Amino acid sequence: MAKISSTAARGTARSASGSDEGSSAAVRLTGVGKVYGKGGGAVHALRGVTIDIPRGSFTAVMGPSGSGKSTFLHCAAGLDHPTSGTVQLGGTDLSGLDETRLTHLRRDRIGFVFQAFNLLPSLTVTQNITLPLRLAGRRADQGWLSEIVERVGLGGRTEHRPAELSGGQQQRVAIARALVTRPEVVFADEPTGALDTMTAKEVLGLLRQTVDSLGQTVVMVTHDPVAASYADTVLFLADGDIVDAMTAPTADRVAERMSRLGAWA
Ligand code: ADP
Repeated sequence: MAKISSTAARGTARSASGSDEGSSAAVRLTGVGKVYGKGGGAVHALRGVTIDIPRGSFTAVMGPSGSGKSTFLHCAAGLDHPTSGTVQLGGTDLSGLDETRLTHLRRDRIGFVFQAFNLLPSLTVTQNITLPLRLAGRRADQGWLSEIVERVGLGGRTEHRPAELSGGQQQRVAIARALVTRPEVVFADEPTGALDTMTAKEVLGLLRQTVDSLGQTVVMVTHDPVAASYADTVLFLADGDIVDAMTAPTADRVAERMSRLGAWA
């Protein structure tokens, strides 16, 4: 389960050098703050978020609109720079990396799944899945490629183009693409937001399987309590901070917690 602790407690628990050897966290945020703008108009999107996301866990991030979910995801995935605090991916401190290294880290060590699938329409299923490897100048491991294509249920469709696939199939291509580099963590941003209920359940079941059978770490931002119920732990954000964590979530308990946060007032 994800552990929350105050920034102050973390500061005393770890050495001043921030050494992280032997950590079981796939992702570690320490006192992460993000401020947009300056002066009177400044928006504090994150206010000192400290969290360890354990390896091989499925974490959902929920919160009312404007609570900082997207900012959390962008900072944790190295897509945006925190204003303060540190983000570590598998022990690598992202703040120490220049843009080129950060780009390589995102390509090689992080998988992304977006609401809008973000597949390239002119490429086949196989070409879309292997794109992160081609960008890195690496060859696909054929055994691994076959395994993930089978796991996501696209065995008969590898030469199709995205327009020839349903929304659920397109999202399964995106999940296979996210897994192909064997990333340390997969970040999913509202992965079921564009899917109908049944298809969404298939995609969520697939994400769950990647955690259970491949040991993948998955962090998913969602506003849907049913989607969150597939996770091991749900983190609740409010006003830029993590205010609660729920293990073994059910959709009803998540919905109830969200309504107490005023999400659907
Ligand atoms: P959520 O994903 O939970 O809806 P966000 O992370 O998108 O929340 O936003 C958190 C806060 O930061 C909101 O008040 C939002 O208006 C503000 N914000 C987000 N991005 C920017 C930006 N690029 N410039 C200014 N304010 C922003």
